[in-house]
Amino acid sequence: MSENRWCCTVCGYVHLGSIPPACCPVCGATPDLFEQADPLPSSAGSAPRNWRCITCDYLHAGDSPPGCCPICAAGADRFEPAAEPARISADRAVSGDIVVVGGGIAGLSAAEAARNAAPEASVTLICLENDLPYYRLNLTRYLAGEISVGDLPLHPESWYAAQRITILTGAEVTGIDRTARTVSLQGHPPVRYDRLVLAMGAHSSMPPVPGADLRNVFTLRTCSDAETILEQSRPGVRCVIVGGGVLGLEVAAALARRALQVTVVEGFDWLLPRQLNRAAGERIAREVRALGIGLVCSARISRLDGRDQVEGVILESGDPLPADLVILAAGIRSNTYLARLAGLDVNSGVVVDQHLRTSDPDIFAAGDLAEHQGTVYGTWAPAQFQGTIAGMNAAGGDAVFAGIPRSHGIKVLGVDLFSIGVVHPDDASYLVFEEDGDRYRQYIFRDSRLVGAILLGDTALAPVLKKLIEGGTSCADLLAGAGDAREVSAGIARMA
Ligand SMILES: Cc1cc2nc3c(=O)[nH]c(=O)nc-3n(C[C@H](O)[C@H](O)[C@H](O)COP(=O)(O)OP(=O)(O)OC[C@H]3O[C@@H](n4cnc5c(N)ncnc54)[C@H](O)[C@@H]3O)c2cc1C
Repeated sequence: MSENRWCCTVCGYVHLGSIPPACCPVCGATPDLFEQADPLPSSAGSAPRNWRCITCDYLHAGDSPPGCCPICAAGADRFEPAAEPARISADRAVSGDIVVVGGGIAGLSAAEAARNAAPEASVTLICLENDLPYYRLNLTRYLAGEISVGDLPLHPESWYAAQRITILTGAEVTGIDRTARTVSLQGHPPVRYDRLVLAMGAHSSMPPVPGADLRNVFTLRTCSDAETILEQSRPGVRCVIVGGGVLGLEVAAALARRALQVTVVEGFDWLLPRQLNRAAGERIAREVRALGIGLVCSARISRLDGRDQVEGVILESGDPLPADLVILAAGIRSNTYLARLAGLDVNSGVVVDQHLRTSDPDIFAAGDLAEHQGTVYGTWAPAQFQGTIAGMNAAGGDAVFAGIPRSHGIKVLGVDLFSIGVVHPDDASYLVFEEDGDRYRQYIFRDSRLVGAILLGDTALAPVLKKLIEGGTSCADLLAGAGDAREVSAGIARMA
């Protein structure tokens, strides 16, 4: 691998490679905004310390890539060297107290970025959960028995001490006093801040149906939710999952592996309606049924039945579905109440600008909590990026989050699936190419640019599509492209 270093002139991200990246993964800057940086004086030639999965953007810290990406299961060969920790000139770096609320991936990334950018600052990470920050997205793999609880933490406890990050677990922030610049905590003295990063994430939304408070009705957001579900997951137990999105299907596949009798209820006409069109959604339905999972689409829940414990789900059609266990997987809502009480601008999420600053210049927000240009992403990679940028900026930096196309894969189900960007062209201004044979592929163009894609059955082209879409690649560039880009253009020529 080449040792050239390319520095993004907008946010300072450093890319290792023979040429600049198609698009800055931190701020979205185009290749012309990269300039070649000097080689590192002392560590040149040593192994990179950060690695980026080219399929899902997962960032791994270490001297070598992981054997397998913990997010999308890509092999070590799908990792490329990634940015070194950003540095901020000493005169701009904050030297006071940086406090981060929320120990998910956004909060952890913010704390780490703040520590790297401002070595003199004190950095405190406050976590409501008792567990150290963990791979929340791998809870479905834990449910499936693919990994154990010991595989979940992002870092061992010693890492926080080594990074000089003070971590408080089992600590709930109950208020933000913007005048005194303190956060109040349940059972602890208030904590003072100079800069605050809010990363309280989201909770599972509860559909307003009667019976949702019965025993054995669960949602899955935390490790303790997963443990509660596992306690009830014995072979033969009848489980109804409400919601045929990514989470609902992953939970369904996980519990089917444990020999529960699983049925998924989806209100839309096909599965994964946010990620897939009808053709791809119906192909996924065939794969799901082949796993022995029952499916009811175009069906809405009217109520949950039972005296004390749930006994069944009644659909709006009146049809009953017997159930010993019900899991609600009907989307998320950002945990905005602390920000609302503190008088920050809040919409669906806490409203942030391109620097991930809230309506208070000393308070930043990131991850599932933050709403950037009308979007709450609700997925791992944007939460990790946003956390890094918010942490860097809280420490005195000026990095920009330019937004990224949403992309999705699916774990546990055993189906190769990738979707990115626009998947539902809603007017005639889009040009759609589709291949519906042994595998399914769809490419969507608008204004001569690739803006969305679906791959089902063979996702080898996912990394290149991600780069092409994030880089706003035009048709002309695509046709002139080399390597994998040529495979995409040849595929489109076959579909045309
Ligand atoms: C089961 C599951 C599977 C998923 N699979 C995928 C996937 O395959 N791909 C993908 O991209 N995404 C996936 N996601 C979504 C992804 O995990 C989230 O987008 C990501 O974790 C968001 O990170 P976050 O740090 O913004 O928020 P969170 O992970 O929600 O972390 C927020 C933290 O803040 C804490 N907190 C809240 N309030 C307070 C308070 N008052 N005081 C202190 N702490 C507080 C919470 O307890 C929590 O620990 C999945 C999510 C789940 C639940």
